[in-house]
Order: sequence, then C-alpha cells, then structure tokens
Amino acid sequence: MYQFNEEEQMILSMVDDICTDIIMPRAQEIDIQDEFPWDIHQVLAEQGIFSLCFAEEYGGAGVGLHCWLKMMEKIAAVSCAVSMMIANVSLGSAPVVLFGNEEQKQKVLPELASGEAQIAFGLTEPNAGSDIGGITTTAVKKGDKYVINGNKVFITSGSVSKYFSIFAKVIGEDGSRKLSCFLAEKDMPGLVIGRNEEKMGLHGSVTTQLFFENLEVPESAIIGQIGDGYKIVFQSLNKGRLNNGAQATGLVQAALKDATIYAKGRVQFGNPISEFQAIQFMIADMEIGLQTCHLMLDNAATLFEQKSPDLMKYASATKVVCSDMANKATADAVQIFGGYGYCKEYPVERYFRDSKIFPIFEGSNQIQRGIIAKAVYKEYNE
Ligand SMILES: Cc1cc2nc3c(=O)[nH]c(=O)nc-3n(C[C@H](O)[C@H](O)[C@H](O)COP(=O)(O)OP(=O)(O)OC[C@H]3O[C@@H](n4cnc5c(N)ncnc54)[C@H](O)[C@@H]3O)c2cc1C
Repeated sequence: MYQFNEEEQMILSMVDDICTDIIMPRAQEIDIQDEFPWDIHQVLAEQGIFSLCFAEEYGGAGVGLHCWLKMMEKIAAVSCAVSMMIANVSLGSAPVVLFGNEEQKQKVLPELASGEAQIAFGLTEPNAGSDIGGITTTAVKKGDKYVINGNKVFITSGSVSKYFSIFAKVIGEDGSRKLSCFLAEKDMPGLVIGRNEEKMGLHGSVTTQLFFENLEVPESAIIGQIGDGYKIVFQSLNKGRLNNGAQATGLVQAALKDATIYAKGRVQFGNPISEFQAIQFMIADMEIGLQTCHLMLDNAATLFEQKSPDLMKYASATKVVCSDMANKATADAVQIFGGYGYCKEYPVERYFRDSKIFPIFEGSNQIQRGIIAKAVYKEYNE
C-alpha cells in the first residue's frame, strides 16, 4: 500500500480537523436544507482544499492522487454532498488539465485552485446518458466563433459554476459530426441555467439543467482539437471514477463505524445485538468490503500515476466494487439500526440515500462492466 509522506500526513490531519469541526456539525442540516453550502465552500477554499488537485504552476498544491483520494474518502464519510463539490472541481477541470492549452489553463485553474470559481462537466443530455454517441447538442462555426445549441441534464454544480466544460458535436461543412469539448462561461449570452433537480440523496450538491440557445463561444474555447470529444470524456472519467470510488469508500467507512458503535450499545434479548452472529456477519462483510475498496483504490491510483494503458479497466473495476459495496454496507447499516435506521435521527438513513447514486453516475455500473469485458476480450484475442 502507498505510504503517505510527512506533508501528506499533515494535509490529511488538517482534513480530519475540518471534517470534525466544520463539516460534521453541518452535515445533517445540509441534507435537510438541500442548498449548496456556501459557508462550507468558503472554509474549504480558505484551507486550500481545492488547490490540492492542481499543479503548483496554476496555484495548486500539487498533491499526488493517493492523498487526494484519501481526502475525498474522509470528507465523503462525513458529508457526501460536500465531497461532491470537491470531486466535481476535479472532474469539471479535467478536460482543461488534460487537453487544454496554456492560455486556458492560466485563465481557469488558478481561480479553481483558490476556490474563487467552480466548474461543471456538461456531458449528459435528456436522451444521451450512457449512450454519449447520442448527444444532439451541436456547434456550428460562424466566422471566428462557434454557435452552440442544445441542452444538458444532471450537471453537478451547474447552477453554482462560473466555468463549464461542454460537449457538443461540431457540424462540419461536409455534414460530419465530431464530438468536441468547449470551455464556456456563465455570463456568455445564450447559456441559460435551468432548474436544480430534487433528488433522493446528495442533498446540498446541486444537479442542474443547462440550455444553450445560440451560445456563442470564441474559437479559443475549443479544448484540445475538434473531434477530441470521446478521448477527453474517457480520460476525464478515468479520474472521475476513482474520485467516485473514494467517495463510495467513505460511505462504507461511515456505515461500518456507525453500525458497529450502535450494535455494541443496543441491547435485545438481554445482550448487545453485536453478540448475534447475524449482526457480526454484516459487520464483517463491511470490513472485508472496506479493505477491498482500499486495495483497489490504491492499485488504481498507482496505475493512474504511472499513466498505465490498463488504467481504464482498473478505474472501472474500482468504481464498480466501491459503489456496489457502498450500497450494500449502507443498506446493512440501516438494517442493524432497525427502525431507528429508517428515521432521520441517525445519519445512516442519509448514507443509504447518498450511496444509491454511485452505481449510476459517471458511467453506470452496467456500462463499467461492459468496459471491463471489452478490455478482457482484447487480452485474450488470439
Ligand atoms: C446526481 C447526479 C449527478 C450527475 N452529474 C453529472 C455531471 O456533472 N455531468 C454529466 O455530464 N452528467 C452527470 N450525471 C448524469 C449521469 O452520468 C447519468 O445519469 C448516467 O450516465 C446514466 O445515464 P442516464 O441517466 O441517461 O441513464 P440511461 O443511460 O438511460 O440508463 C438507464 C439504465 O439502463 C442501463 N443501460 C444503459 N445502456 C446500457 C447498456 N448498453 N448495457 C447495459 N445497461 C445499459 C444503465 O446502466 C441504467 O441502469 C449526473 C447524474 C446524477 C443523478
């Protein structure tokens, strides 16, 4: 397993303090109010949390992925909604970080690193979720500009972002349609922010509709090259899926801790319920799951740092295991709490609702299994 160096240990200890002192006291309230927690955002910005995923030349602290993922896990264990605002800066900025030119990086990344601005990743459409080939948002060149029309759904932090990485198909003069990525800004005429969805969980993380009504972006807004869209999506999501895996692992950790403490204190039939084998097996399965999640995240983070060509298969597998485990562990935690687990008095109910998104977004677990199977078929292509 990766060993955190002294600096990383200091960062993680600071994250522990923020979780205990700042986020935990607000977590249940954030869930109930279901509003973007700007107060927490400000503290995270002041403490330099957003800077952790950016390189030093762009105002970042440039920590490695292992430390970043551990931080994500710790924060998600306290509030998944708060972890989303951080994970989303990483995902939304990935197109710029991975494919942007120097001018785009200098413009956007320092503002994101300082927490002055948020950025959203605009891929999904009403009729194109898993099937990104079905995207109908178009971009047409007009002079030195591109005119974008279409709409997006389920865009995390869409209504609180200044910047947007938007995917659209560029219609060529020959009728070709090339998936491409553009950097748009909130104040550009034609970018209309729609409603925030009412969700089962992740309350406090806003999930927004976007409309592009003759949105004009300059040529300089193209990220990478025209036609790089698929490459940008897949490479951005590799890291996004590890972020998701770490967040889901945080939920496993939280479920395990809360369920264990409760089981030891809850007495039925004259014994703490922790003495019953049926409860022990659920707790043991959570621990086994937690260890598995940690190993898979550690391995995938190492492959990411090594720029391994196998990363996609491992990132997908990590996302599947961690998210399925989060669903199981949080459901079992509710079971262990019995009727109290079904009420808002204890946070396991929130963990359960929050966990349900992880097998769905950033490529559903069915899609991940398809990716994994295709990679395996290639390996045995004799
Ligand atoms: C809270 C939240 C936040 C989100 N944030 C963002 C964001 O920031 N940016 C963004 O672009 N999107 C975002 N999304 C969208 C998310 O990534 C999609 O919801 C997800 O990719 C699934 O697409 P869909 O909802 O259209 O479902 P569909 O693609 O319609 O899938 C429905 C079901 O069919 C299954 N399915 C589909 N195709 C196949 C197949 N080929 N084989 C087997 N099963 C299949 C799926 O697994 C799923 O179970 C977010 C969604 C939510 C709910």
